[in-house]
Amino acid sequence: MLTPITGRSVVVTGASKGIGKGIARVFANQGAKVLIVCRTASEGEACAAEIGNGASAFSADISDWDGAQAMAEAAVARNGGIDILCANAGIFPQTNIEDMDPGEWDVVLGTNLKGNFLSVKACLPHLKKSDQGRVVLTSSITGPVTGFPGWSHYGASKSGQLGFMRTACIELAKHNITINAVLPGNVITEGLAELGEEYQKSMAASTPLKKLGVVEDIGNAALFLASKEANYITGQTIIVDGGQILPESLEALE
Ligand code: NAP
Repeated sequence: MLTPITGRSVVVTGASKGIGKGIARVFANQGAKVLIVCRTASEGEACAAEIGNGASAFSADISDWDGAQAMAEAAVARNGGIDILCANAGIFPQTNIEDMDPGEWDVVLGTNLKGNFLSVKACLPHLKKSDQGRVVLTSSITGPVTGFPGWSHYGASKSGQLGFMRTACIELAKHNITINAVLPGNVITEGLAELGEEYQKSMAASTPLKKLGVVEDIGNAALFLASKEANYITGQTIIVDGGQILPESLEALE
């Protein structure tokens, strides 16, 4: 049983749908004060209404410094500070290197990697004031552990998050703030649905547990890393993938 995080102020980026929404729901159900951040205001509002428990929405682009700062200020104004940042917003367009416009590389790295840095930087002055400052990044198995055609930029951004984390861990430690990352495998989300049914079927088949993850699986891992009990864990990763990275061959799955 984890010490309740009731009343803690939590910022979740990319929370209007998918994994971010799952994280927001898990924290809100535990009584935390959740700020749902995304660019599309109507979707953020709808998500906050659905999740309830005092969750509220704020519209910001976290790949932009002004947006990240506005997000942090909104959390402080509404919820009295920031205890936990779940930096989850990310995009995953799929384009082979040969066909990739260099601008697409910048957009993916700008959102997934620079956006992580900006979110942490904007929240840092407020996390420093918390007695239990926590940062939880949503990375991926893609990049840090595995590869998939079309995701060279995405994989680089997701690996880059871990490189960022390993130095941030040392800088943040002197303020008693921990930073860790969850590495999801294939989780059923709106974004994943766009990749088609065949993709989802093949991913479920290549996973020892023979199923895709659900967003709450990632939310629960984030909740643990944000808990009081995870107080001595920092700069680490938790893979939540149903065992997907482990089989050495198709035969191993039979
Ligand atoms: P999703 O369903 O496509 O949702 C993405 C969320 O991020 C939305 O709320 C979106 O809202 C928001 N967002 C995107 N760009 C943003 C920006 N610049 N500023 C603020 N918000 C932004 O994605 P998902 O599948 O849940 O993925 C979420 C995270 O999990 C990503 O970091 C992804 O890399 C990681 N992940 C996902 C899977 C998976 O299987 N789904 C696996 C491994 C890792 P707006 O468009 O309105 O801004």
